[in-house]
Amino acid sequence: MIPASPDKRQFSDWQQEQAAGYRNPTELLAALNLTDAPSLDLAAGALQREFPLRVPHSFVRRMRKSDPNDPLLRQVLPLAAEEHSVLGYSADPVGEAAAQNAPGLLQKYHGRALLIATGACAIHCRYCFRREFPYAAQTDRFGRWQSALAALATDTTIEELILSGGDPLTLSDRRLTELTDRLRGIAHLRRLRIHTRQPIVLPARIDRSFTRWLSSLPWPVALVVHCNHPAEIDAEVVGALRELRAAGATLLNQSVLLAGVNDDAQVLATLSQQLFAASVLPYYLHLLDPVNGAAHFDVPEDRARALLAELARRLPGYLVPRLVREIPGQPAKTVVSAGTSPL
Ligand SMILES: *Cc1c(COP(=O)(O)O)cnc(C)c1O
Ligand code: SF4
Repeated sequence: MIPASPDKRQFSDWQQEQAAGYRNPTELLAALNLTDAPSLDLAAGALQREFPLRVPHSFVRRMRKSDPNDPLLRQVLPLAAEEHSVLGYSADPVGEAAAQNAPGLLQKYHGRALLIATGACAIHCRYCFRREFPYAAQTDRFGRWQSALAALATDTTIEELILSGGDPLTLSDRRLTELTDRLRGIAHLRRLRIHTRQPIVLPARIDRSFTRWLSSLPWPVALVVHCNHPAEIDAEVVGALRELRAAGATLLNQSVLLAGVNDDAQVLATLSQQLFAASVLPYYLHLLDPVNGAAHFDVPEDRARALLAELARRLPGYLVPRLVREIPGQPAKTVVSAGTSPL
């Protein structure tokens, strides 16, 4: 038997998989037989350096080969369309700079605060509203969340902490344990929420060590995944979601309504049905936040409201997500009602 190299043995399988993801658009397109797709006009190098392509192999395996319009590919491929600057689109579309309680701790709403646990993600979603977020300034040099946890400890009105980022599940189990051990000392915390795309994009992340950590937590946990299209859900993802449920978390999903990806009633209905079969309830369907580079994903509000009305006609109420828009300065996400005119 050939022993594993000492370097490799320090990392779990999922960490190796995360590190091995595609970072080069040409390699990604070659793997999908799309080397000669004239409709794919890639972004220039500068933009690709600022927010580079990043996608795990397991997510790429769920893409259709030879299809330049594959809905999973569209979410990750840096296109030239991102270079257009569009009126109303900005670096901080939802006013996060103004919502900072301490470096890395954002609070907009009563009773809940959001921790930027890390800036890293296994996947880079082109429509991400934090694609220009100043992560370096928001995380302390040693990554120990020092000022954020101090602010949290002194504000007894905060009952719920949301672990966000970046993706908090890119952190190792050792780091997550270090974080939650420190949270145990904060008596006013009553709920923990985890916002993560990892169970969808890198289901190997949900291993025994992780579910042991999850089931050891002293708070009720809401784990909110981020899935936009039914093709993102394969057998491995279903397995990971069921493990999370078995470990005691309440599972919810948030999606972003994206032109050319999921702006279709049948796609959204199938998404809700497949998520429910994997123990996940739909939570939010977000209208696009107007972040620089994402304008080509926008779905007009009238069309979004018509799609929601169609979903409500087809599905039981508990499988219809709340259509929301984030308006800076509002005390909650703003619910957008279903339309009355047909699609
Ligand atoms: C969206 C968001 C939340 C979560 O809002 P809910 O309606 O509770 O899901 C919390 N904090 C911040 C800063 C947010 O942007
Ligand atoms: S996983 Fe979430 S935080 Fe990371 S790039 Fe995608 S949308 Fe943004």
